[in-house]
Amino acid sequence: MTGRRIVVVGAGPRALGLVERLGANAGVVGTPGERVEVHVVDPHPPGTGRIWRAAQSPLLWMNSEAQDVTVFTDESVTCEGPVVPGPSLSEWAAGPEASAAAAGLSARSFAPRVVQADYLDWAWGRVVGSLPEAVSVHVHASRAVGLVDRGGSQRVGLADGRHLEADLVVLAQGYLDQAPAPGEQRLLDVAAAQGLTYVPPGHTADLDLDGLQPGEPVVVRGMGLAFVDLVVLLGEGRGGTFTGDGTQLTYHPSGREPVLHVGSRRGVPYHAKLGYEVREGVAGPAPLRHLTRERLATLGGGTSVLDYRSQVWPLVVLELAAAHYRRLFEAHPERTRGTLEALERALARADVTNGELTAVAVAHLSDPEDVFDIHRIDRPLDAVLHDGTSPDEVERLVAEHVGHDLTRRADPSRSSDRAVFDTLLAVYAVLTELVVTGRLLDEDRVRHVEGHFHGLFSFLASGPPPRRLAELLALHRAGIVRFLGPHLELVIEDGAFVGRSGDREVRARAAVDARLPRPDSALVTDPLVAGLLASGELRSRPVTASDGTALGAGQLVDDARARAVRADGSVHPHRYLVGPAVSGSVGAGGFSRPRFNGPGFRQNDAVARDLLTVALAGRTTPAHLISSSSHRPPRRAPVHVRDHDDAHRPQHDPRDTPREKDHRHAS
Ligand SMILES: Cc1cc2nc3c(=O)[nH]c(=O)nc-3n(C[C@H](O)[C@H](O)[C@H](O)COP(=O)(O)OP(=O)(O)OC[C@H]3O[C@@H](n4cnc5c(N)ncnc54)[C@H](O)[C@@H]3O)c2cc1C
Repeated sequence: MTGRRIVVVGAGPRALGLVERLGANAGVVGTPGERVEVHVVDPHPPGTGRIWRAAQSPLLWMNSEAQDVTVFTDESVTCEGPVVPGPSLSEWAAGPEASAAAAGLSARSFAPRVVQADYLDWAWGRVVGSLPEAVSVHVHASRAVGLVDRGGSQRVGLADGRHLEADLVVLAQGYLDQAPAPGEQRLLDVAAAQGLTYVPPGHTADLDLDGLQPGEPVVVRGMGLAFVDLVVLLGEGRGGTFTGDGTQLTYHPSGREPVLHVGSRRGVPYHAKLGYEVREGVAGPAPLRHLTRERLATLGGGTSVLDYRSQVWPLVVLELAAAHYRRLFEAHPERTRGTLEALERALARADVTNGELTAVAVAHLSDPEDVFDIHRIDRPLDAVLHDGTSPDEVERLVAEHVGHDLTRRADPSRSSDRAVFDTLLAVYAVLTELVVTGRLLDEDRVRHVEGHFHGLFSFLASGPPPRRLAELLALHRAGIVRFLGPHLELVIEDGAFVGRSGDREVRARAAVDARLPRPDSALVTDPLVAGLLASGELRSRPVTASDGTALGAGQLVDDARARAVRADGSVHPHRYLVGPAVSGSVGAGGFSRPRFNGPGFRQNDAVARDLLTVALAGRTTPAHLISSSSHRPPRRAPVHVRDHDDAHRPQHDPRDTPREKDHRHAS
């Protein structure tokens, strides 16, 4: 019997997690003693991949606290495979194996991304160094450019001309590169013809910002995390400095910054990360009471397609509102009236599509700040702004909103925000399940789950460190950042960019779309995925909404076992898709918190066990690993060695590992 050969395309955190789970489960499931060869392909270093590579500005931070980031399972993870504990980012930083750059990192710090790079690099070394004898990992510092079925096995073509033969392939490619969407392409073309500078959506760390001149106005569309990175690179990155503490910062310009006129759909930045802890009994996403499997099963007979807006969204809103008020009644009863039970009964009867949900709650509250109004939360400026609002008034209202957010997010007496945060994670998991089980049509998937809900989730739960918003306010006071308002339109008129919000507008020679490209598989330029889409081996169906709006094709689609769904709806039994480019891939949003039963761990574990057990009927390829179309001599891939960086090879004795020390159990 020859071994099992698995190719993982992508060597970011997801691949790290999969390799860790393959090691943990090998010998526990699958054929006893079977050799498993894992080939990991990525031009970027393994463990860190592209996003967390060490070669990037040290000014860029994570948006998670160091204590909330781990790549190791713990007792909270309800997976079938063995738990193999390891340190969180903050525990590693406090330990003997931390890098010099990690010195001084506290549990509550938001680590620079380059420190997370050190943690991931260390974790990769530990995971690979701890693998059982039967499992070997081979890293190929190249790009995968093709994948075909060939005689019962699969052939992965690499950019350097080599091929890898595999039984099973996992595509863990993270955010896929895309061509500009039609509107962005138009801006690119017209800007180029008229000598304007336009920076389209992309990874901020990879963008060329040199075309943005000191002192010139720049229209910026987008106020999420890419905007925060942009501000850092154009402010401190160009020599500006901050003095002061907490929320009272002063920015001292270098004179090399442009002036950023920023707006977005909401017109305000993402909410700051919560600055307090509510940890009692938290072992994972909050249990749901309304958007439950049982409830969804009764809708439409349990298997039929659901209508998102009329059947799913009302339950999402009810679930979030109920979580908010439950925490309020439990933790801050002095601001409540009547009983929680009476309020919950009233909420359950209310119509969430109008103001009824809010109206029934008011009678139970003594502080209007405690009302959970999803419309006001989602579009905070809509009620206070109108077309005639003056630009100065808009600036004042946005700055006031940000200041208020900084205060509220640091205030434990508003811990109902935390309950909503935890519930959002659980809701996302249910929506994911509806996607992979085919209970939502493509239009609802793309427009509502990948679109609106994902945006709301990011706005409420994926915000920046509070310090970044305090910096934003200081930059605003220094005149480097100006707030344009909501519903921002970006067009080119009469030889200039125009940023327009209501009847307020600004003209500029340069503009930036500060965001990652909106996932649209129809626009993917990655040659591997583009080739699979073209041959129908992956599904991509451009969606047009009933009102005629082109929604794009959204993310790639897989089934409940994370296997690739083809254009004809069939499933490829030996190809898996995971990560942020895949609709419904759980845990794709980021790192798990320790003791949180992170869904990403559970999916990694399930996929790893599948990879170790799935039948390989029909395999005909010989046992050699690497063939060559360019007539190179086959390379003998060394065990536990990274092709591109042997110098950092871990020196662990594979037997002296947490696994061998029995830090694990079969749950
Ligand atoms: C700018 C940014 C900041 C973020 N900050 C945080 C944060 O602070 N906290 C948090 O929890 N999450 C954060 N995230 C979320 C992030 O998605 C996850 O942290 C994590 O990186 C996802 O891991 P991944 O392996 O799925 O994808 P990635 O990290 O994107 O890794 C995928 C890898 O696949 C490789 N690849 C792609 N195509 C090919 C190919 N054809 N051949 C070979 N290799 C290929 C890429 O080079 C890349 O290295 C952030 C995301 C971004 C974009």
